[in-house]
Amino acid sequence: MTKADQFNTPAGPRQLYDCTADLLRASMSDLGQPPYRAGQILEWVYHRQARSFDEMTNLSKDLRRQLAEQFCVYESEVVHVSRAADGVTKFLLRWADGETTECVSIPSGERRTACLSTQVGCPVGCVFCASGMGGVRRNLSAGQIVEQAMVAAYQTDDDTRLSNVVFMGIGEPLANYDATVQAIRTINAAWGMNIGARKITISTVGLPEQILRLADENLQVTLALSLHAPNDELRARLIPWARRVSIAQLIEAARDYFAKTGREVTLEYVLLGDLNDRPEHARQLADVARRMRCNVNLILYNPVEGVSYARPQSQVAHAFLHLLRELGGNAHLRQSRGLEVDGACGQLRRQQL
Ligand code: SAH
Ligand code: SF4
Repeated sequence: MTKADQFNTPAGPRQLYDCTADLLRASMSDLGQPPYRAGQILEWVYHRQARSFDEMTNLSKDLRRQLAEQFCVYESEVVHVSRAADGVTKFLLRWADGETTECVSIPSGERRTACLSTQVGCPVGCVFCASGMGGVRRNLSAGQIVEQAMVAAYQTDDDTRLSNVVFMGIGEPLANYDATVQAIRTINAAWGMNIGARKITISTVGLPEQILRLADENLQVTLALSLHAPNDELRARLIPWARRVSIAQLIEAARDYFAKTGREVTLEYVLLGDLNDRPEHARQLADVARRMRCNVNLILYNPVEGVSYARPQSQVAHAFLHLLRELGGNAHLRQSRGLEVDGACGQLRRQQL
C-alpha cells in the first residue's frame, strides 16, 4: 500500500454508492448477469431508496446473496441526529473505520439543500473554522460523499425533495479532487440522484490548478470561492494555505472558470468582528469583485468553541453590505441557519471526539 492509498478509505465491502453505472454493469457481467441488472439495482437504490439487497425483490434470492457478499448499500451508522426549530437537521455519520463526518439537510421553502463533507477533518486549518482544528485524518471516498447526500435526502422528517447540494461541510473538496468530482457525477446522473449540476455548489479555499481542471470537466456546477479577506496580507493570517496563493491568481482562475462554464462565481466572505469588517475592507473587496463576474455572499461568523473571534454587530454587517452594493458589488448577507444545532460545520464532530 502506498502512502497515498493509506490516506484514502481502507478496503472493505465495496459501497454501491461508490460504483458508476458502467462499473456496476461490468460487475454484473462478472457475476454472469445481463447488463440490465445494473439498471435494476440503481433504480432500487436511488429511486426507491432501498437500504438492503433483501428489498430488491425483482432479483433472485441467489443474486441478492451474492451481491450482499460483495457490496454494501449504506456503510455508515448515523450516530447522532440533531434537528433545529427551523428544520435544519444535522447528522453525524460513523464510517466502518470508526472515523466520523457530518452532513446537513437545510430546508428553505420549496427547496432543500444537503451540505456535504469531503474529508475527515481538513488540512487547511483556517483560524475561525472547527473543521480544520485537528488537521485532516483522511479523504472520503466518492461513495461516502454520495452516501451523505442520500442520508440528508431521505433520513429526515422532511418530504420536500432534495433540490440542491453544497460542498460546504468538513474538508477542502478540491484537495480530494477525484472523489469529489466522481460524487458530483453520481449526484447529477439520471441513473443516480438526478440533481441538476447548476444546483450543485463546490466551495473551495481556492486551489487555482484544480479550479482550472474543474472548469474543463464539462460540469455546470457553481464555484464558491472562500475569500474572507480582500488583501493577501490579511488573507494569509486567516487561511494558512493563502500564503501559497495570491488573490490575483484566484481572480485569474475564477475568470477562467466563468469563461469556460458561463457560471458566475460566488465569493464567500465570513465577517469577523473588527478583523475584516471595516469600510476599507468593503472598498478593497469591491475592487476584487469588479475584476470578475461574481456574487458576494457575506456570512456572519458562527462562534466556535475555543476560538476568540467575534460575530460583528448586525449594523456593522449591514453597513458593510450597503457600502459594497454602493460600489457596484452584487452582494447578499447570508443568514446563518441552524445555529442552535451545534453551530458551524465541524463542531458536532469535534464535540464527539
Ligand atoms: N473548505 C471549503 C468548504 C468547506 S467550508 C471552503 O473553505 O470553502 C464552507 C464554508 O464555511 C467556507 O466558506 C468557510 O469559510 C465557512 N466557515 C467555516 N467556519 C465558519 C464559521 N465558524 N462561521 C461561518 N462560516 C464558516
Ligand atoms: Fe478547511 Fe474550509 Fe474550514 Fe478552511 S474553512 S479549515 S478550508 S473546511
